[in-house]
Amino acid sequence: MYNSSKILLLFIFLTISCSKDTPSNSDPILDIEFDELGSDGPYLYGETYYGRKSYVTYYPGNIPIILSIPHGGDISPSEISNRTYGVSVTDSNTIELGIAIRNYFFSNYNVRPYVVINNLKRTKLDANRDIVEAAQGNMYAERAFDEFHYYINSAREEITTNFNTGFLFDIHGHGVNPDGFYDMRTWIGYLLSGDDLDNSDNYIDQNISIDNTSIYSLVNTSNKTLSNLLRGPNSLGTLFEDALYTALPSSNSPSPEGMRYFSGGYNTFLYGTNRNFDFNAIQLEFPFPDLRDTSQSRGTFSSSFVQIIQKYIQTHTGIDVLLID
Ligand SMILES: [Zn+2]
Repeated sequence: MYNSSKILLLFIFLTISCSKDTPSNSDPILDIEFDELGSDGPYLYGETYYGRKSYVTYYPGNIPIILSIPHGGDISPSEISNRTYGVSVTDSNTIELGIAIRNYFFSNYNVRPYVVINNLKRTKLDANRDIVEAAQGNMYAERAFDEFHYYINSAREEITTNFNTGFLFDIHGHGVNPDGFYDMRTWIGYLLSGDDLDNSDNYIDQNISIDNTSIYSLVNTSNKTLSNLLRGPNSLGTLFEDALYTALPSSNSPSPEGMRYFSGGYNTFLYGTNRNFDFNAIQLEFPFPDLRDTSQSRGTFSSSFVQIIQKYIQTHTGIDVLLID
């Protein structure tokens, strides 16, 4: 729709005298110009950036981790009409969870992940879809979408400059399945479908290209097989299980076996498959009870999550995210 950093939208309402076919419209000429993306930078560690009307929050960090939180927002401005198709369910308390993780990193290790939050309610913007479905033509929602990704891109650029590689964790929450069953496992998405995961390790390693995953960079770096990284002893899911948070895929739950499972959405694809960057993206779908429901459970989970992530990244890349100067 536009290809310059300046967005200029000019609606000229024809007067009735111009054409009998033009509906009567008394609105004044509307001339809206957004600030250039990035004009609120440079983005400094320890500072906070809010985007236009605080629809998006960006906390720059100093370790090779980005937490993106697309579905936890609750702002419903009247300038953005409700989306008319697609999913509109809020992932409750995922912003609070992301902040708890950020706080745990800082309080205990004096480091911070990069955190990018969409504060708009999902009825206004779905920040885990392409812009067409995400914003559905509303220019203010499109602006928030652009800011959300501008901040993530800025974080990714800084991380790859400083660490050569990095991780985006796209944070979500899942609820009761349509059949009434509540799966208490964290669903970890690498873009491989449930059907892909239902295969044997041998089949996966011989027939599924790492190009089709969102952890291409990690598989290359670690010298582990794909199946090992998905559900071996040092896979993310197994490290969750070791910390007593059940997860899928993992050693104990190698595949969904036909059950409901989310393999990763737009953000996981966008940041996990771009070969111009040595970067990985993983979608995390957290259950609500005992993990993100209360401040106490979020705090307890945050302490485990930080250890899990530290071990995961150090094992496979050699980077200790808790010992960054
Ligand atoms: Zn979600």
